[in-house]
Amino acid sequence: MPETHSVPAHTAAAGTAAFLGFALEQVTHLYSRGHGPAGAAEVIEAAPRTYYIRPGIVNVGLFETDEGLVLVDTGLPGDGPSLLRAIRSISDKPLHTVVYTHGHVDHAFGLWAFLEAGETPRIIAHENLIGHFERYMKTPGLNTIINNQLSGGTEGKSWPTERGDFVWPTETFRATLELTIGGERFEIRHGKGETDDCAWVWAPERGVIAAGDLVTGYLPNAGNPRKVQRYAEEWAEAAEAMAALRPEIILPGHGVLVRGADAIHDELTTMAAYLRHIVDHALAGLNAGLLHDEIVETLRIPAELATHPRLPAIYDRPEFICRNVIRRYSGWWDGHLADLLPAPKRDRARQYAELAGGSGALVTRARELAATDIRLACHLAETAFLAAPEDPAARQCYVEIFTRRGETEPALMAKAIFGEAFKRARAAEEHHRGQS
Ligand SMILES: [Zn+2]
Repeated sequence: MPETHSVPAHTAAAGTAAFLGFALEQVTHLYSRGHGPAGAAEVIEAAPRTYYIRPGIVNVGLFETDEGLVLVDTGLPGDGPSLLRAIRSISDKPLHTVVYTHGHVDHAFGLWAFLEAGETPRIIAHENLIGHFERYMKTPGLNTIINNQLSGGTEGKSWPTERGDFVWPTETFRATLELTIGGERFEIRHGKGETDDCAWVWAPERGVIAAGDLVTGYLPNAGNPRKVQRYAEEWAEAAEAMAALRPEIILPGHGVLVRGADAIHDELTTMAAYLRHIVDHALAGLNAGLLHDEIVETLRIPAELATHPRLPAIYDRPEFICRNVIRRYSGWWDGHLADLLPAPKRDRARQYAELAGGSGALVTRARELAATDIRLACHLAETAFLAAPEDPAARQCYVEIFTRRGETEPALMAKAIFGEAFKRARAAEEHHRGQS
């Protein structure tokens, strides 16, 4: 079946809500303290002394207590000064406790601005966050590439590489941590979802959960094709644990503030059902001996899950989540015998092109197919490009077909990857110009 090409209205609206604060300069310099958001942070008093603060692409949560401030997440490095200004416009109480919901660069890197201003908070994170930061130090080149980063700012780095580049937690926990601050209870709970170091905060007397990226207003990012293992099953468990508390308000890691006990319950239980549907499908396929591709090809998402207004696939895709589950439970081999110890892809492409009568024939067929089956067209266009990267027509077709694919693709992750055709074609052009 060819894929459908229109982006439903609820999907487009959720995308706008989730990625509204996007500032290109900051997003291409994620790790730079010198590249901040475009404007002042948005501040909403979600409940008495409880604030949703959004400097740019990410949100942070703030609880004011009689003893001081409890801050959940700290934004990107470049968000630090903007967050500090926003918080000081709300309260002059000292920063008492900071909780990192996970170690991603958009959540755990803005605290430096507060420390430079003289704050001395206790900093709490799940114990796995230490390993997360250490992994960042081992893979700066990889992260620079997969996050499409440019070096920038005063530090001139595109990714943290040494211990001093991080603000480390002063305290870690394993399962749950109960705190009393200003006479009020805060429960910090561990979960796994996008990462294995998730923490979320429950403030029972306020009926508020600060969820980090466990709640974002779109299909959970549990399948990113370029990143380390995600945890769809534990994500479902975390959503169910939150739902059982019947919160009135959720401060999400991205996207808009969420209010209303019934709507929140519906969102969280539907999210859990959605993730479990994919996990069950992947496991059933593996247990039945299907090949990885066969498992993904037979995945169907029931309409009541796919059309939930808070769970559109605008960032990740169900197919990617399915592959992530497959990877978790099986090896890297896709099950096709020739793929076990394959011939170079380029050599294969040349064989196919020769059989077709040249890369030009593949180009022609790719263009013909684009209107009816863009997925198949992509395979032919890529084969032509790999067979004849020196041929301008093959390069042009490659860019054209993948641009078309990207334009109709609702999931941002896939869109970004399809967008790489241009870069690859240009690199091939430069390479061949250098040789001629
Ligand atoms: Zn995030």
